[in-house]
Amino acid sequence: RRAEERAAAAAPVLDATGRHVLVAANVGSRPEAEAAVANGADGVGLLRTELLFLDRAELPTEDEQTAQLVDLLSVVGDRPVVVRTLDVGADKLLPALHLDPIKNGPLGQRGLRFGLAHLDILRTQIRAILRAAAGRKHLSVLAPMVTFAWEARTFRRLIADVSSELEDEGVAYGRPHEIGVMVEVPAAALAADEICAEVDFLSVGSNDLTQYVMAAERTNEAVASLYQPDHTALWRLYELLVASARAAGRRVAVCGEIAGDPAAAVRLVELGIDELSMAPASIPAVKAALRAALGTG
Ligand code: PEP
Ligand code: MG
Repeated sequence: RRAEERAAAAAPVLDATGRHVLVAANVGSRPEAEAAVANGADGVGLLRTELLFLDRAELPTEDEQTAQLVDLLSVVGDRPVVVRTLDVGADKLLPALHLDPIKNGPLGQRGLRFGLAHLDILRTQIRAILRAAAGRKHLSVLAPMVTFAWEARTFRRLIADVSSELEDEGVAYGRPHEIGVMVEVPAAALAADEICAEVDFLSVGSNDLTQYVMAAERTNEAVASLYQPDHTALWRLYELLVASARAAGRRVAVCGEIAGDPAAAVRLVELGIDELSMAPASIPAVKAALRAALGTG
């Protein structure tokens, strides 16, 4: 019976027009990848690499990062995977980096901002990701905390650069299936057309986007009641974002917590969101809600 439930959860979700709505998992470790597969994930919509860096006094080497990724990806089989580059700063102050809570705080140098200021760390990670992509058809790469189109352009260039470097060295690697950026900053959502020109897809980080739209820190208990992912302001922003992405012919995913809420998931898909990525345990309920709402079983 449990096997039946899992088989049902693993089936793809189609909307009335036959569009495949991808219901994927957020994972940061091998056990989470196993839970994703067990819960019927269509893929991994967000692989959070910073968890591979936690609890360490030193940064992992390129070889260590490659091995960790290969091990985690082996669990996922040939499902599509989106690997996010290091998202440090704000709520993710990795011990090995000795970050400053103000300089690297929520409005500071975090995510891709940190990566572009520490190119050695970012390049090493991209080398590891592309090496782990060898022989994979559907591994995409995603940058966190992007504000400007030029940041997305620089990220794409960096990936092209690292690819030719690996090529010249004769090291086995894979080119990313797609290159995307996260929409977590209100400016990026409002000027999504400019960013779409530089990337293949967008992935909305609703956790951070909520924090920045509501001006309420996601981990600050004192303003927890102001942190409202379901606020009208956010829905208006999603609507605008989908319209911009549609006009540019780009796919939009949502990978924040809101994607794992069945009612919100239905609303996001009805708005035109193409992919949802969530905690593995939320997948069966979200798939069931989507099937019921979309009238596709
Ligand atoms: C988000 O901000 O919504 C997101 C998915 O990224 P993280 O939670 O890792 O910051
Ligand atoms: Mg985020």
